[in-house]
Amino acid sequence: AGPADSLVHALRTAVAEAPDRTFLAYFDARLSYREVDELSDGVAAHLAARGLERGDRVAVLLQNSPHFVLAVLGAWKAGATVVPVNPMYKSGEVAHVLRDGEVAALICSERAWESYLAQTAAGSPVRIVLTACELDFQTRNDPRVLTFERLPEAPGTDDLVAVARRGGRAPEGRAPRPEDLALISYTSGTSGTPKGATNTHANMMYNAERQGAGLGLPVPPVYHALAPLFHITGMVCQFGSCLNSAGTLVLTYRFEPGVALEAFAEHRPHYTVGPATAYMALAAHPDVTREHFASFVNLSSGGAPVPPALVERFRERFGPYIRVGYGLTECSGPCASVPPGRTAPVDPVSGTLSVGVPGTDTLVRILDEQGAEVPFGERGEIVVRGPQVVSGYWRRPDATAETFPDGELRTGDIGFMDEQGWLYVVDRKKDMINASGFKVWPREVEDVLYTHPAVREAAVVGVPDGYRGETVKAYVSVRPGAAADPDELAVYCKERLAAYKYPRQVEILSDLPKTASGKILRRELRSRTPNEQQQI
Ligand code: ATP
Repeated sequence: AGPADSLVHALRTAVAEAPDRTFLAYFDARLSYREVDELSDGVAAHLAARGLERGDRVAVLLQNSPHFVLAVLGAWKAGATVVPVNPMYKSGEVAHVLRDGEVAALICSERAWESYLAQTAAGSPVRIVLTACELDFQTRNDPRVLTFERLPEAPGTDDLVAVARRGGRAPEGRAPRPEDLALISYTSGTSGTPKGATNTHANMMYNAERQGAGLGLPVPPVYHALAPLFHITGMVCQFGSCLNSAGTLVLTYRFEPGVALEAFAEHRPHYTVGPATAYMALAAHPDVTREHFASFVNLSSGGAPVPPALVERFRERFGPYIRVGYGLTECSGPCASVPPGRTAPVDPVSGTLSVGVPGTDTLVRILDEQGAEVPFGERGEIVVRGPQVVSGYWRRPDATAETFPDGELRTGDIGFMDEQGWLYVVDRKKDMINASGFKVWPREVEDVLYTHPAVREAAVVGVPDGYRGETVKAYVSVRPGAAADPDELAVYCKERLAAYKYPRQVEILSDLPKTASGKILRRELRSRTPNEQQQI
């Protein structure tokens, strides 16, 4: 048999090979490959019986729980396209996705349904609802989690686990084809209104297959899901890659450093992928020890800038080298990463850590504003072509034409490539700060701040300035037990950066605002009102 062309196919293969192997570990609950197969058949049978057709959209709004996996596999087995929705979205954002995606079925937590989604879904195209009683940190010791038992269902909905347990056969002839849409992934909205990237099964499988490859993970591998599964990184690099290699996936509801460390100690995982902020939070936890990371063959990070100081300190303190990757929702995960066994170089001029080299069959070019390729070392927009790149945005021909001219993805990121083919991401084009006509890339200033021993997290933005037009402002959170002085931090940067780059304002916050996928929200910091800015 050749490689799997969808995760439903990969599940079939895993069930044939190792039916009793644990696929999902969730606190004290375990589900084997056979159980997940049977339960997701039940979900598919129910959706089809309720009139769900091939190609219909199923929104899944759940945390990292077995329910998420059953919902997604059940929807795919019914021939549907999954629309993963960030559980942190507010009612208006969910309403946008349900309407824009013309979503037929919604699978969400019972609590979210009762508190606001019942109302949100009322005016939407949703006609089938399944709710799941996700057991969270508070209820994880509930004896019912051990048996993965159904809890009382919300009025007016069916319970996901109940329909899964009722069983049945997935409808005939609905097996996903490689060109079918596996996902409509709404981009995280770090910088604007969410648009749905249309990831096919082929797009996803390309990255799912390559993710763990070459790392020498034990067979079967144990994955820990640090990143949320609703985000493309979690979906493809954790869930997809783990299922494709018939591994065990450890789920812990959502990222919480103490809970993640407990799971590392218990399950001894070999692999995980998370945003840099997750590694910072783990490193700052009072209980963390080197032993927590002893089982890992590899740690990966991507989806947001990774400061070189983090990678270095992490290796010194805990052992593993954090392997960086660069990706976008529109690339179904990574399009470049550090090859296994290699160490990413740091650009001697800017101090930026390379994000690796483009994947096989992936063409990454750096273009100037006229669309011409620039020489090695010069900066321009990163443009990607490859089997993981989606064909466009869901029902947005305008945005598709703008972002994917000739089928090539214009990432909106500025970067450069060195002569050895290492790619560097300078920053997002739209985050550039224009200080008196000088270009300042926030990332470069952040990387310097991260070398300061007291700094835990840093974000740099442009704020309006009567004299310079814009001026550089840094927001910083401090490591536990450390103290930082804003003026001292400004001087620290001044000594290490050109005069126009160092932050004229430094403000210390207890925590920096982040998306559910752990990205620091510069946009939110930029839009803090002056009043708010003074208060903290
Ligand atoms: P939106 O498109 O709504 O603004 P988003 O851009 O955060 O949301 P994602 O697809 O989650 O959506 O993130 C992709 C972006 O993340 C890239 O365009 C890039 O700016 C950033 N990114 C990803 N990996 C890296 C990396 N290794 N280094 C620096 N930046 C990265």
